[in-house]
Amino acid sequence: MKPVQLISPVDGRVYAERMPLSLEAAQAVAARAKAAQKGWAARPLEDRIALVKAGVARLNEMKDVVVEELAWQMGRPTRFGGEYGGVNARTEYMASIAAETLAPQMIENSNAFRRYLAREPLGVVFIVAPWNYPYLTTINTLVPALIAGNTVVLKHASQTLLVGERLAQAFHEAGVPEDVFQNVVLDHATTEALIAARAFNFVNFTGSVAGGQAIERAAAGTFTPLGLELGGKDPGYVRADANLDAAVDTLMDGAMFNAGQCCCGIERIYVHESLYDAFVEKAVAWVNALKLGNPFDAASTLGPMANTRFAKVVRDQIAEAVAQGAKPLIDPANFPADDGGAYLAPQVLVNVTHAMRVMMEESFGPVVGIMKVKDDAEALRLMNDSPYGLTASIWTEDYDTASALGAQVETGTVFMNRADYLDPALCWTGCKDTGRGGSLSYLGFHSVTRPKSYHLKKV
Ligand code: NAP
Repeated sequence: MKPVQLISPVDGRVYAERMPLSLEAAQAVAARAKAAQKGWAARPLEDRIALVKAGVARLNEMKDVVVEELAWQMGRPTRFGGEYGGVNARTEYMASIAAETLAPQMIENSNAFRRYLAREPLGVVFIVAPWNYPYLTTINTLVPALIAGNTVVLKHASQTLLVGERLAQAFHEAGVPEDVFQNVVLDHATTEALIAARAFNFVNFTGSVAGGQAIERAAAGTFTPLGLELGGKDPGYVRADANLDAAVDTLMDGAMFNAGQCCCGIERIYVHESLYDAFVEKAVAWVNALKLGNPFDAASTLGPMANTRFAKVVRDQIAEAVAQGAKPLIDPANFPADDGGAYLAPQVLVNVTHAMRVMMEESFGPVVGIMKVKDDAEALRLMNDSPYGLTASIWTEDYDTASALGAQVETGTVFMNRADYLDPALCWTGCKDTGRGGSLSYLGFHSVTRPKSYHLKKV
């Protein structure tokens, strides 16, 4: 077995190195998680909630080291302060609805019958997490899974393997038993072998489409439920009645934040012809105001991409689109930190078409294509002309218009006048190649529990 190396995008150094577990050791981890589950589920709900909240509170106390490590691992500028806003809000919300969501639902309680629907934890939940929002994507499942009485095994991305260690450390120091939440380093073969051997009762995989397909293949025939939160190519549509400045600001931030490495980042924009020229001009000015640089420099608003290989995908897509007739509006000379490697100048492309990969395949980087549309019908056709369906951001003044258009978009979330945001009270879900299942909201608890019907009769 080879060690897993975490190469920092900041300067290319090996920032951390860990040996993955052997299959036997990984099986032992899963067995311990299984053995610990009944005892954990038997604890009162309030205790589990308190321990999970204490784990997150402990993580907050570790903020300085977490933010610095995050920059080394995946390049996010330290000025953004980590992922604490979302981590805290999602934990608070899921904790606040747990008692009501997990309570048995009484259908009848009479002298003749007691009939009710209960929810049971699934058992051992396995989380396979990505590097791009490494804390948030884990928290989305970790928090409801533990609160609902499951034990959890976490396998984090190689690019962010210290995140798994920090989460485990925080939760253990806060009193969550070690076997209730275990972090592991695994290679793909061992990950898949465990799933195929029914080591887990639920797998939440967040990552690429190819990875999701591999997990689905590994689970085939085991009936292990899967949550698959995969890639996106999220569109923005700016109608003629949009607030232009707000649209530019939010959509460009949605395209560029985190160097474009957001599953629900804006990757393509369709603008009504009446606003198109003004939108493009403002969008270019917005992007030119970004500062690409070392993530530890307080002035940097754009860090390196997490890995030179991810930047290469984006560079190739841009070059290919330009060769096919796209026009790049950002002069890379404005971004002298672009080193041809992980540090990549942002780009705005016009004259793009859906024949170009940059408009069809996930870029997952700081590039966005903008197209002119003449009406809603054309925008809808283009928004739906995608293998993905995570979010769609519609810019209009009117709720009813947004709802009516949203109903025709093949997507997991419809936004009006916002983008690139997860609301803990709404289900995070997708369709088409973006996968299936849902996290957050009361439905997030349904993903980590199973219904159990009680049909009790007196004779
Ligand atoms: P990835 O390469 O698929 O990896 C995700 C995780 O799965 C990592 O822990 C990875 O381990 C593991 N993995 C990948 N292939 C595997 C396989 N065949 N068997 C076992 N484990 C496997 O994705 P990523 O590059 O980390 O993340 C970026 C992708 O995630 C983008 O496509 C993005 O859109 C998507 N994403 C989606 C959401 C959503 O909510 N829908 C949220 C965030 C990100 P290693 O790191 O060790 O390879």
